[in-house]
Amino acid sequence: MKEQLALLRELQNIDLELDEIKSEKEEIVARLKENTGFLDRLVEDLNDQKEELDEIRTLQRSKRGDLDDIKEKLTQKQKRLREVSSNREYNAVETEIESLKKSAEQTEEELLHLLEVIESTEASIKEKEDKIVQLREGIASDEAAAEQELAKLDDTIKALEDRQEEARTEVSRRVIHKYDFIRSRRPGLAVVAAKDGHCEGCFMALPPQQFIEIQRGESLEICPSCNRILYFWEDAVGEESPAESLEEA
Ligand SMILES: [Zn+2]
Repeated sequence: MKEQLALLRELQNIDLELDEIKSEKEEIVARLKENTGFLDRLVEDLNDQKEELDEIRTLQRSKRGDLDDIKEKLTQKQKRLREVSSNREYNAVETEIESLKKSAEQTEEELLHLLEVIESTEASIKEKEDKIVQLREGIASDEAAAEQELAKLDDTIKALEDRQEEARTEVSRRVIHKYDFIRSRRPGLAVVAAKDGHCEGCFMALPPQQFIEIQRGESLEICPSCNRILYFWEDAVGEESPAESLEEA
């Protein structure tokens, strides 16, 4: 059983390393996705603002048309003023002229305000467009770097999976089955050391008789508290981690 447990520890190291590399991969993919999401939102904002600008320009055109109409009417009224004979009519036309002048003034003010809005919207659009160009460049180089990183991780995964497969064939079916069952129940360690009468997985005290059995290493011992497979800590002294052995390979 001691030999089986040693093989199991090796398998566990490989599996833990695989877990870590796979979550590293997921993080990279998530980061890329987040960046693209941010860019997408910015592009959406930009399109909204362009639409807004179109609407303001349409309003501007219509206001300009209004102003032309008012000025046209004003010219007509001023011509009329020179032609009227009665005082009463003169006063009436003069009042109309005053009111037309006022509304021309008001429309001009509105047009001035619209021009300001157009200018600031255009500036904001330009700013966004520049930012988008920058972001796209950043994302492109990020993606290129990530691709390399992911390819490297895939190589490591491949190497680890080869070793995982090899290690699994060396462990007995019964032990592998127990190991897989524990790992399916909770992530992390499935095989833990027993030291000074304690389980190093959950730090609960083990029954003294069981601790003796673990030291003997003739049977498959399970922690009664956390249900992990136990080995005697001294048996694992000097074992290397899979990362170290990969670097050597
Ligand atoms: Zn335990």
